Amino acid sequence: MKAPVSSAAGMPPPAAPSQYNPNVQQNGAHPQRYPPPAAPASYGQPLQSQYNNMAPAAPPPAQQLTNQMSTMNLGSYASGPMQSPPPQTNSVAQQPFQPAPPPAMGQPMMPLGPQSPHMSPHMSAPQSPQANMPMAGPPMAGPPMAGPQMAGPPMAGPPMGGPPMSGMGRPFPGPLPPGPGGFQQPGPGPAGPTGYPQQAGQFGGHMAGPQPGMMGPQPGMVGPQPGMMGLQPGMVGPQPGMMGPQPGMPGAFPGSAGGLAGPPQKKLDPDSIPSTTQVIEDDQAKRGGQVYNTNIRGQVPRWSPLSSPYRTKVSHSNASPRFIRCTTYSLPCTADLAKQCQVPLAAIIKPFASVPKNETPLYVVNHGETGPIRCNRCKAYMCPYMQFIDGGRRFQCGFCNCVNEVPAFYFQHLDHMGRRVDFYERPELSLGSYEFSATLDYCRNNKVQNPPAYLFMIDVSYNNVKSGLVKLICDELKTLLDNLPCEDGSETSAIKVGFVTYNKVLHFYNVKSALAQPQMMVVSDTAEMFVPLLDGFLVNYQESRSVIYNLLDQIPDMFADSNESETVFVPVIQAGVEAFKAAECSGKLFIFHSSMPTAEAPGKLKNRDDKKLVNTDKEKTLFQPQKGVYEQLSKECVAQGCCVDLFLFPSQYVDVATMADVPSHTGGSVYKYNNFQVETDGEHFLTDLRKDVQKSIGFDAIMRVRTSTGFRATEFFGAIHMNNTTDIEMAAVDCDKALTVEFKHDDTLSEETGALMQCALLYTTINGQRRLRIHNLSLNCSLQLSELYKSCETDSLINFFAKSACRAILNQPLKNVREILVNQTAHMLSCYRKTAPPPLLPARSEPDRPWEEMCSI
Ligand SMILES: [Zn+2]
Repeated sequence: MKAPVSSAAGMPPPAAPSQYNPNVQQNGAHPQRYPPPAAPASYGQPLQSQYNNMAPAAPPPAQQLTNQMSTMNLGSYASGPMQSPPPQTNSVAQQPFQPAPPPAMGQPMMPLGPQSPHMSPHMSAPQSPQANMPMAGPPMAGPPMAGPQMAGPPMAGPPMGGPPMSGMGRPFPGPLPPGPGGFQQPGPGPAGPTGYPQQAGQFGGHMAGPQPGMMGPQPGMVGPQPGMMGLQPGMVGPQPGMMGPQPGMPGAFPGSAGGLAGPPQKKLDPDSIPSTTQVIEDDQAKRGGQVYNTNIRGQVPRWSPLSSPYRTKVSHSNASPRFIRCTTYSLPCTADLAKQCQVPLAAIIKPFASVPKNETPLYVVNHGETGPIRCNRCKAYMCPYMQFIDGGRRFQCGFCNCVNEVPAFYFQHLDHMGRRVDFYERPELSLGSYEFSATLDYCRNNKVQNPPAYLFMIDVSYNNVKSGLVKLICDELKTLLDNLPCEDGSETSAIKVGFVTYNKVLHFYNVKSALAQPQMMVVSDTAEMFVPLLDGFLVNYQESRSVIYNLLDQIPDMFADSNESETVFVPVIQAGVEAFKAAECSGKLFIFHSSMPTAEAPGKLKNRDDKKLVNTDKEKTLFQPQKGVYEQLSKECVAQGCCVDLFLFPSQYVDVATMADVPSHTGGSVYKYNNFQVETDGEHFLTDLRKDVQKSIGFDAIMRVRTSTGFRATEFFGAIHMNNTTDIEMAAVDCDKALTVEFKHDDTLSEETGALMQCALLYTTINGQRRLRIHNLSLNCSLQLSELYKSCETDSLINFFAKSACRAILNQPLKNVREILVNQTAHMLSCYRKTAPPPLLPARSEPDRPWEEMCSI
């Protein structure tokens, strides 16, 4: 470690040296980051590993597929909407948990400026041109993937009756011409005209391809089924004919003789395709404000994907779909069934999802020094799935069946139903989601945690100054910092703030409230980054407001004449980690950066853009981050609870794959504004920044998903870090971050007991309290795949496929990934046809969204 180049008189000596704290070791291995490999997948295998390392799977035998398709009817599933009649809105509780009677609960340095004596000689002036314009900028979490593929017309429900088809697994051929072929049945089918309208490209065209009559001979089934699922591209909402009985179809299933020709097919009329927006709006108008009751095991929030943000949900024994959604709410009992249907078994967990103001916030349960009550064996937390026995003296764990003693302080008698008489007084016994106050055992180093800090790190190289960005940021921070998130009830935020500016050197600012002027300290040795001051670096905004104002006023002027264009990047993040380490807190870095870090320093990057690689097998290398120092840095950040949000303002190529690596492993976000110009893009950026700074968030989080016996979580997707196979580490988790967890069978599941999952998130609040947030969910299990199909949720499926595809593109060519998606979807749908028997298809009053939507992917 080196001494600061210049140090303000009276400044504490450079803080602790070690740039890489040994602490970090705890992160050791860092196994599966972009978990590659797994078994090559092929059809007939469970989806789970499909993306890992695989070559396009072989297509299923044509005949088989054909037959499967033939039984894929659509129509309707059981009855109407799942939601229960609007129970009264839960107005029950206000924290803390109020006992409520069953009915109620149940439902419902140096002075700045040149004159500064301490001003470092190292401060150089910026230079180098580059301009800027916003572009996209979505946070990294949950990125879209292969856009167009998802939008195409469905590939399922083609006319049956053609000759066998093959080629499902062919290489992605690209859009195919519309017209005959494809889904039509040239074959025998009496069905008249061509099959379903062809759509070029997407799944339709894709499937269509050269194989006429791809769906193969359909014994028994015949012509096109109007209204058959999947035939309408883009179909989402109610489709006339879609759910009703199939003309000509009914008794024909399966395999009844041909001759059931459907009505003639027509060319697709684009005007008849329902508008997704319209369907959503109609759904909101119809159901908005209804209360969603989560008291039923395996209940599918199938209507809510469209309008969930507008609904009130009552959390009751199961977590609200705001927090957890599953790809299906009825798991197949056996691994064989799961393999057969190929529907991924996964949960999308958004542990910090925002709860609207008109809903009850999560209750916080405090058992004092005892801490939360847990199962002795599997460590699951007390929840509605624990069965009290032996007069209330013991409880049996719903997850591992272990029988545990009830601590004396927690004892309560049981009523005639075997339920504790304080059932409705304790959130952990009656609700799906709640929090526990954590004891010191759950704190880092067994010490009370400090409130987190927000560190603003502004690139003051030539470009950013020239474009006016630096001034824009400084002006905005003056008001934005008044709105830092605070715990309900408190007027001011406990979050500390700090400021750094940098180009190829870093400038730290002392903004202690006692100072008349802020002081700057410059560190030019970026090889071993350290923070040159402790006291006065991270401060309370309210207390230091005038000094901070002064600083924010001065920064744009200080660098106005700088012509320094080179920047560093890794040292900036290291400085943040070191600052949090020294202050013994977690926190978030807001980095406003413009260019490739080409200055001589750790993490220096080169332009590795190569357009020649696009559409080749090596294209994936463009998406792969550079490892080495960046990978190590991610681990250090997670170990310290340092989340990184990156705002990029490039005017030319930047290696986003590498620079976004740290944010995408620390629960951070990346925003990118190409060729940024204050006049045109300023408001866009400020809107993003305000939202990002103010959102609710938890720090230094570690999460585990426990399941009842028979299945377990095996794969995890999200802006996370995994040090072992079970603990999900996130430097921070905010209200927009979701994590996708995939499950696999260990054993046979029971229809009777169903399947349970519990997501426990240990985190530090913005006040520095350590808490455990618990979300519980119970699912059905069935030996009938028809039950699974009824309980599928399309949005969750798409989320799963998108995330797994995003991961897959790092390891294999895009064309393979597209192909896998298409094949996967084809197989799910064909299996659906094969296994959903006609009796499941009575007329219904409303569309069965899961699979109908599925077909519109
Ligand atoms: Zn247990």
